[in-house]
Amino acid sequence: MTWQDDAGRDLVRSFGERMAMFVRGEGSYLWDAEGTRYLDFLAGIAVDSLGHAHPVFVEAIATQAATLAHVSNYFATPPQLALAAMLKRVAGTGDGGRVYFGNSGAEANEAAFKLARLHGGSDRPRILALTDAFHGRTMGTLALTGKPWMQEPFLPMTPGVEFIDSTIEALEAAIDDRVAALFIEPVKGEAGVLELPAGFLRAAREITERHGVLLIIDEIQTGAGRTGEWFAFQHEGITPDAITVAKGIGGGFPIGALITYGAASELFYPGTHGSTFGGNALGTAVAGAVVGEIERAGLVQNAAERGEQLRSAILGIDSALIGGVRGRGLLLGVALTHPIAKAVVAAAQEHGLVINAPNDETIRLVPALTIGDVEIDEFVALFTAALRTVEDALLLETPTEVPA
Ligand SMILES: *Cc1c(COP(=O)(O)O)cnc(C)c1O
Repeated sequence: MTWQDDAGRDLVRSFGERMAMFVRGEGSYLWDAEGTRYLDFLAGIAVDSLGHAHPVFVEAIATQAATLAHVSNYFATPPQLALAAMLKRVAGTGDGGRVYFGNSGAEANEAAFKLARLHGGSDRPRILALTDAFHGRTMGTLALTGKPWMQEPFLPMTPGVEFIDSTIEALEAAIDDRVAALFIEPVKGEAGVLELPAGFLRAAREITERHGVLLIIDEIQTGAGRTGEWFAFQHEGITPDAITVAKGIGGGFPIGALITYGAASELFYPGTHGSTFGGNALGTAVAGAVVGEIERAGLVQNAAERGEQLRSAILGIDSALIGGVRGRGLLLGVALTHPIAKAVVAAAQEHGLVINAPNDETIRLVPALTIGDVEIDEFVALFTAALRTVEDALLLETPTEVPA
């Protein structure tokens, strides 16, 4: 029996076939059971902010597990209060902000969806989200996710959500006083690292404010410093009504949060939402240590600088398969000139590089925020080799004219 047999028999089929089985990680490297080493530029989908087995992460889990793991939300704990204060500070909420803790991105967005309904009441039944944006796989967050093929097997959706294009004209046309909230994914990671048009976020803030609409920004993939600011909206100098975070905040520990600003912080009242595990001492201690280390080690700035370095390095690769690089900081999408992203991912794995393809024409790069020259140089060598492998295969498939 191989691990592939076990996985094929015992695990849910919704993920498709597992590409490898990893047994250990350290920094930006992973090892499989055969001892083969891989450079990890996926970092568990923008989750492992500090890389694998970072001493700060390990120490936080061990110490908190040996002190106090869980007491339920009938009680407060020091790590929970410390993380809430830290998130309010880096998100710039000021004193009026509040934090709701859940255990995943979807749970953070579910809380945001309920926040939108509390704000909307019966006067504002409409909720707007962007076509192609991804907000999660639960029934509520799927209703917010503008991808018909994902929704189709699970219809009917929770009503009230409408999808609009990511243009300022579409914002102007759609937003009125019947809208409760506008959800925005500031860089559409799952859709292929698509950026919003220039001025879009500022226009969204201005128009939502004018109509009393909550502006809710999904920072689940973009947050925790990944784009070179703590949160992507901060590049635009606006203040939202709420943001959702998860992935990189926990550095590998499952945790999510809804962070509210100003008046939106007063919408939930006792009994309107909850979670048994959410915000427990163990999870918040680990996330507190991860966020603290991102700050201490200057990793937000590192994401900005290494992101630019990585972008230039990729654009310097001599390959006809590279069409360009999208994204910001260490959330980059390499646009390919042919729909061969899956083949590039497979070839990369053969060469010892873990990357991923959110669609057929894009490679997504979301490495640990700790990467430096060594990882970037190694990435370029492995990625170049993978592209060569795919180019060679393409040449074989396309018979060239035989000279007479
Ligand atoms: C990953 C992601 C989610 C869902 O998070 P889960 O932890 O998988 O539930 C939601 N929104 C965005 C933008 C994401 O990238």
